Amino acid sequence: MNKSRSLSIVIPVYNEEENVTILFDEIKKVLEGFVKKYEVIFINDGSTDNSLERLMDLRKKDKSVRIINFRKNFGQSSAISAGFELCTGDYVITLDADLQNDPANIPDILEKLNEGFDIVNGWRKKRKDSLTKKIPSYFGNKLVSFITKVKLHDYGCTLRGFKKDVVKTLKLYGEMHRYIPAIASRIGIRSIEIPVNHRERRFGKSKYGLGRTFRVILDLISIKYLLSFSHRPLQIFGSLGMLMMSTGFLTGLYITYEKYFLGKSADRPLLTFTVLVLFLGFQIITLGLLAEMLTRVYHEGLNKNVYTIRETYGFEDENIDDRT
Ligand code: UDP
Ligand code: MG
Repeated sequence: MNKSRSLSIVIPVYNEEENVTILFDEIKKVLEGFVKKYEVIFINDGSTDNSLERLMDLRKKDKSVRIINFRKNFGQSSAISAGFELCTGDYVITLDADLQNDPANIPDILEKLNEGFDIVNGWRKKRKDSLTKKIPSYFGNKLVSFITKVKLHDYGCTLRGFKKDVVKTLKLYGEMHRYIPAIASRIGIRSIEIPVNHRERRFGKSKYGLGRTFRVILDLISIKYLLSFSHRPLQIFGSLGMLMMSTGFLTGLYITYEKYFLGKSADRPLLTFTVLVLFLGFQIITLGLLAEMLTRVYHEGLNKNVYTIRETYGFEDENIDDRT
């Protein structure tokens, strides 16, 4: 890797006391002599075990460790987002704290970033997880690729590399971290997928169960909305509403014509239909206007974060770029 480039590694931690020390040692071994300027940012996402103590021990021994301590558990996406906010490296790599991602893949990722890609996605080709994870994830990846038009084999892999400017434009919440490549496609980026090693979880428990599937799908709907219509919500709501209102107008005309010219009773299912579509159409248009206003508020309020930080350690040190 280009020796003058600095690197930030961002790691979300939620109850991983047995893992963090081993992980940090692995990372150091990989980076030694290879990357000169780096920081390893751990985000303690409201752990209830001794993760924070283990991280503080690491920081005592090694000043490249930086810690963001959340006030409570805000979720993996918020943790990654906080890391993105405070990181200072030219290149940024995210990975899980549970040792399932292999730091040995870091050089491959850096190489691709050096080649000019903005995002390098890890693809867990031989995934070491239970079937209850692998099966929904197989269909999930197909669905997300289809809907977002950003085709990837593995949306769920946290091991990824980014250029600094990409991470600085992202705000994540919910289960959004898995859609980073899709969200980033909005700003026009070059991305690539490379196979990475995946390992079984040895210590601690997975933080997610089957319930995640639903949250992932709900977030997909909002991503699709964000990608396609977030700038002009009135265009989807509006066209649907106009369509319904014009249908109602036509059936209304027809039923009036029949009543006054043919003397038929207007009190028929068609009348109910007419009233229904007219009202619904009107409502949908107003909903679109509301969404339009919300979009403005959202874009203006983009600088607000979902998470709150109790304290940080190490960020007062000199910028990693100033280190020799
Ligand atoms: N994680 C987190 N906050 C949470 C849940 C998870 O920071 O609310 C971290 C967790 O410590 C791990 C990573 O996110 O480093 C992935 O979690 P996990 O291994 O449980 O997910 P899985 O691999 O089972 O999908
Ligand atoms: Mg895991």
